[in-house]
Amino acid sequence: MAKSKIVYPGSFDPITRGHLDIIERARKLFDEIIVAVFINPNKEPLFSRKKREELLQKATEDMPDVKVDSFSGLTVDYVQKKQATAILRGLRAVSDFEGEFQMSSMNKELNDDIETVFLMTNTRYAFLSSSVIKEAAQFGGNIKELVPPEVEKALKEKLNRSYREDFNDEK
Ligand code: ADP
Repeated sequence: MAKSKIVYPGSFDPITRGHLDIIERARKLFDEIIVAVFINPNKEPLFSRKKREELLQKATEDMPDVKVDSFSGLTVDYVQKKQATAILRGLRAVSDFEGEFQMSSMNKELNDDIETVFLMTNTRYAFLSSSVIKEAAQFGGNIKELVPPEVEKALKEKLNRSYREDFNDEK
């Protein structure tokens, strides 16, 4: 039987334990998972594509069935190019539903052969997003339990530097 391959696209700016939980659970269902950083021209990320890939790589280094990559353009085209059959997404609150429903319907319209598979968040991480992590880290909050250690370190370095630059700019 052909191996099942799924693409998990997202901003991953940066990866959190919520993302990791989805990846770990998907590993039980699929033979290979490609975690792909989507380069979105309409979003200004905190971390570069390279850094986001590096942090994903580090967080999944013990998972031989998980590959890290990045792409731009249509997700369905990328999925097809990688010879995968489905798109993986996580669902948290009801508020995620509308956007995800719209996106998966559009993707189905663009390529009827590709399905979107949703995994429900672990309630432990239902509140967790890259944005709340960035906000908490910016003001010195304790995020240890919520992100892999290398993400915590990267956030500290990045935010300390930009905070100092902003502060100096104001003078
Ligand atoms: P995007 O900008 O594409 O939404 P994100 O990195 O924010 O990128 O999220 C990628 C995917 O991971 C989305 O499907 C999102 O719903 C899911 N996700 C993010 N955080 C969590 C979490 N705490 N629990 C479950 N799924 C999550």
